[in-house]
Amino acid sequence: MNLPLAPILPTDLRRGILSLSEAEFGAWLRQHGQPLMRISQVRRWLIQGRAESFGAMTDLPVDLRAALAREFEPLETQVAAQTQARDGTRKLLLRLRDGRHIECVLIPERDRRTACVSTQVGCGMGCVFCASGLGGVARNLTSGEILEQLIRLRNLTPRDERLTNIVVMGMGEPLANLDNLVAALEVACVPAGLGISARHVTVSTVGLPTKIRQLAALGKPYHLAVSLHAPNDALRTQIVPTNARIGLAAILAAADDFFACTGRRVTYEYVLLGGVNDAPTHARELARLLGRRIAHVNLIPYNEVAGLPYRQPTAQAVATFVAELRRAGLNVKVRKRKGADIDAACGQLRRRFEAPSAPVPHAVASEAASVQ
Ligand code: SAH
Repeated sequence: MNLPLAPILPTDLRRGILSLSEAEFGAWLRQHGQPLMRISQVRRWLIQGRAESFGAMTDLPVDLRAALAREFEPLETQVAAQTQARDGTRKLLLRLRDGRHIECVLIPERDRRTACVSTQVGCGMGCVFCASGLGGVARNLTSGEILEQLIRLRNLTPRDERLTNIVVMGMGEPLANLDNLVAALEVACVPAGLGISARHVTVSTVGLPTKIRQLAALGKPYHLAVSLHAPNDALRTQIVPTNARIGLAAILAAADDFFACTGRRVTYEYVLLGGVNDAPTHARELARLLGRRIAHVNLIPYNEVAGLPYRQPTAQAVATFVAELRRAGLNVKVRKRKGADIDAACGQLRRRFEAPSAPVPHAVASEAASVQ
């Protein structure tokens, strides 16, 4: 079911209350003669209580609720569009206060409810096959904007359920916005927040070695996924331009350090682009590159993007690739297609929304899936 895109949205976009620091909110409360405990009350309503209006916060004085509503929004993003696929995958297009748009996805599966979130408006990494990077990066998301994606997706779930997993695989390069991401995850991963286990958070990166080590040094059991996409530097630089100045050796060294430091196995993601990087020789070279590492390989059959020349791999190419890697002793999964009847591949719904004349991508799937 595709709900119609909202044509006109209110332009009166006030600050979201969650984006205020404790000091800012505290000062505002003092001006209004209110105790500081209101901060945790309001946050609890939004983060745990699923409130989407100040009026719903029934243990706050009525005057305070009205004063808050005059100056702030409870949640500062607006749902500009939402889609639901037949398999239950749901996607939200959120409009930010500056009028820009981001996407996030909820993937319900058996006993899991996975949220796939964005960390930037657009992306600056320029991977040649990816829809998110086509217009470059506009800006980093704030920690509040990252947290709001999680809250809005959680609010789509039944009352007695919560989010179980987070994959940071939406738009943007998470490690280029590490501080804001970590601040949002800190709220998400405590019982008084969204109650998600840090072990069930996967951060996917193009491979920024210094930031990978910073992530490891946090001492949190986050799961790291590294987007390799090629078994040698020459091919990787063609597909992932940032590779020109970083290189596979430095990325693998940082990923090895991540494993040594956290004890958490790294997942290597590999988008299979038909006729580009999906030959058996690539698989054998990838197996040699990963060698004896204790690693997972997550193969992602390409979701075609309108206007880009890359194609899905054939089923035969995928099967052969998997078999070669398994023969070399690697632990391999092929990412399942999710949300196939909605624009669930990252950046694609936003493209349709912002450029209505652009053709709608004919192959779509979710960027988020079970890598944990
Ligand atoms: N910047 C992060 C997150 C990107 S999205 C990173 O590079 O890892 C998560 C994964 O989906 C990445 O491996 C990305 O390369 C891949 N991806 C992006 N567009 C895709 C598409 N159209 N089809 C299949 N995988 C895609």
